[in-house]
Amino acid sequence: MSQYLPVANGMKSFWLTAESDFSSHRSTEELPKEIDTIIIGSGYSGATTAYYLSQGDLKNASNILMLEARNICSGATARNGGHLKPELYYDYNSLKNIYGEKGVAEIMNFEYAHLEAVKELVEKEDIDCDFVLSRACDVHLHSKSVDKAISNYYSMTKNPYLKYKRDVQIKFGDQARIISKVEDSPVCVTYSAGQLWPYKLIIHLLKHCVKKGMNLQSNTPVRKVEKLNDGRYLVKTPRGDIITNKLILATNAYTASVEPKFEDKIVPIKGICSHIVSSDPTKHTPHLTNTYGIRFGEANTDYLINRPDGSVVVGGAKKHIFPYKDVFYKNVDDSTLIKGSKEYFDNYMQKRFYTWKNFDSKPDYVWSGILGYSDDSLPYVGELPGDKNKFIIAGFHGHGMPRVLLCAKALANFIKGDKGPMAIPQSFKITPERMTGTKNEILKSLTIPLDAKL
Ligand SMILES: Cc1cc2nc3c(=O)[nH]c(=O)nc-3n(C[C@H](O)[C@H](O)[C@H](O)COP(=O)(O)OP(=O)(O)OC[C@H]3O[C@@H](n4cnc5c(N)ncnc54)[C@H](O)[C@@H]3O)c2cc1C
Repeated sequence: MSQYLPVANGMKSFWLTAESDFSSHRSTEELPKEIDTIIIGSGYSGATTAYYLSQGDLKNASNILMLEARNICSGATARNGGHLKPELYYDYNSLKNIYGEKGVAEIMNFEYAHLEAVKELVEKEDIDCDFVLSRACDVHLHSKSVDKAISNYYSMTKNPYLKYKRDVQIKFGDQARIISKVEDSPVCVTYSAGQLWPYKLIIHLLKHCVKKGMNLQSNTPVRKVEKLNDGRYLVKTPRGDIITNKLILATNAYTASVEPKFEDKIVPIKGICSHIVSSDPTKHTPHLTNTYGIRFGEANTDYLINRPDGSVVVGGAKKHIFPYKDVFYKNVDDSTLIKGSKEYFDNYMQKRFYTWKNFDSKPDYVWSGILGYSDDSLPYVGELPGDKNKFIIAGFHGHGMPRVLLCAKALANFIKGDKGPMAIPQSFKITPERMTGTKNEILKSLTIPLDAKL
């Protein structure tokens, strides 16, 4: 379905200032006619799956062809907030109601494990990507969000299967204000998190795979996939068709472009992010000790990281997005902003944080990006039911940083023939039940009234 392909000329994000000639890399002039494995998508999911598939046997990497519609790593991974922030309590009750005490613990423990896993990968491969372990601070400013945070926090502490409970702290009143640096914050919750330059991480891994023999092709959109009588797949691109034994869809928000059955299962949602710097380059910004989630209401949230160079990346501006379905829902256009979203970040830090009150700052980049929201809020990972050797790792619901890496590792091991079940939460696995389900919770979860106050 061509309307779900990435558009040309996506906006330049702050992260993409690190782009080089590698962005338009093509390992060979012509595409091969046949190859063992094709990965569609060169973002966090595609790159990490390729990385783990390439481990071990030296021949593994040369069996892989990666096709990317635009420049290398130009999707959500190059436009996100850089926040590696596991969800450890706020959605606890709703997830527990669906997946039970063990099921919710599986999801939350898995996300928490990403802090260690990303750190280990960055250290093992010596990746220069500004990785910092931090403490996330969730600031709750709306009465509904305050009540929900408190009730979920205390429910979470009663779950015997959770491994990180002592890492999560709730603080009220003056302590919340002092820790958060937000004047009107009645409650804050803090816990371990991380931040990084996602584009640099992914480019490093892709270069590593190319060096090992992977064929990487930028600006090669896949228009269609057909199943052949012998069970292999015909992958159609404007530069020629390729036959493959195994196909991996790492296409996130754009999955319906190659697999129409995902049209209402993984939906492209337009988001906005910014990079804020000191207005006076000779002055250091007042560094915040935490990274942030700021909740003005149920769906009205901002996220923020304090970069080691003193700048700040803030995403959200949802008041200008979510009241307008036509603007954000099933929208793959990341070549434009949304009305009101640019101005939203003017004086942002001065307005929110009392330590910044007398300090001038301004956004130097504001950009859009496309998130892949899934109908039940969880990613789809594994072999598509009824389509042997066609795999998916997509639908990260705007929350891929603490979910993708270990999904990719498990999927790669599964594809390589590891015995036993894939080591991911049961609820992330693609199943016939999930594929036939018709309930779509996305719009409900993103509702913001037109008169929302900030
Ligand atoms: C504005 C914004 C802020 C975010 N902030 C955060 C955050 O702070 N923390 C967090 O955890 N998550 C955040 N996310 C979500 C996070 O970025 C994603 O979950 C993650 O990057 C998903 O990686 P991916 O590889 O699956 O998708 P992508 O990075 O989008 O990669 C998919 C790739 O597939 C390619 N592709 C798709 N279809 C085709 C086709 N038919 N042919 C060829 N190529 C194709 C695309 O061009 C794209 O490059 C944010 C996302 C956005 C947009």
